[in-house]
Amino acid sequence: VDEATIRDALVTAGRRLGARGLIAGGEGNLSVRLPGGRLLVSPTGLRKDELVADDVLVVPLERPAGGDAASERGLRPSSDIAIHRAVMQARPDVGAVVHAHLPASMALTLAGEAPDPAALPETALLLPDLPIVPFGEMGSPELAARIAATFASGPRRANAVLLERHGAVAVGAAEPGLEAALTQAVDRLELVDVLCRVWRDALLLRAARAALGPSG
Ligand SMILES: [Zn+2]
Repeated sequence: VDEATIRDALVTAGRRLGARGLIAGGEGNLSVRLPGGRLLVSPTGLRKDELVADDVLVVPLERPAGGDAASERGLRPSSDIAIHRAVMQARPDVGAVVHAHLPASMALTLAGEAPDPAALPETALLLPDLPIVPFGEMGSPELAARIAATFASGPRRANAVLLERHGAVAVGAAEPGLEAALTQAVDRLELVDVLCRVWRDALLLRAARAALGPSG
């Protein structure tokens, strides 16, 4: 594994999230599994679409007893690091984890709507299972544990989950490679966003038609 290449891939993936309008301010976080029980992870407090390779941090897969120390430059790992650790530990097949506060997914879950991946041919094929994790305190180990359990359960293990009022998490397969894992995780997050936007628009169009009545 060429760590420099994976760092560059993480920077590129952050720019993709920004270009798609999936992150605001310092939101969103990305991680890649490294050999030797380590993770590459985006730092907290910086825009993920403006990262440089040196901003990316290396942390142990297991949370250190005293918490994560700041890097030499004073950077700390993502506030959602517990999610990344828990999902990587629950799913050894996963090589990358990406999380963002997708606005359309937050609107739907705020309204109590659950988009069905079977509604669109692409999500039916690529993301047949899209469970919703009930709300939990951001950054808490409790929420991280429930997200990881959701990823690890079910007959076909999910590759993306919605978080009630908190966006979505998607994963990429560690094989054939870690760069591909990151690309796959971002692709899946984008696909979740497409489904959520289509679902929202369809709901609004149906509601508008119903409000107009038969003569509308
Ligand atoms: Zn979050």
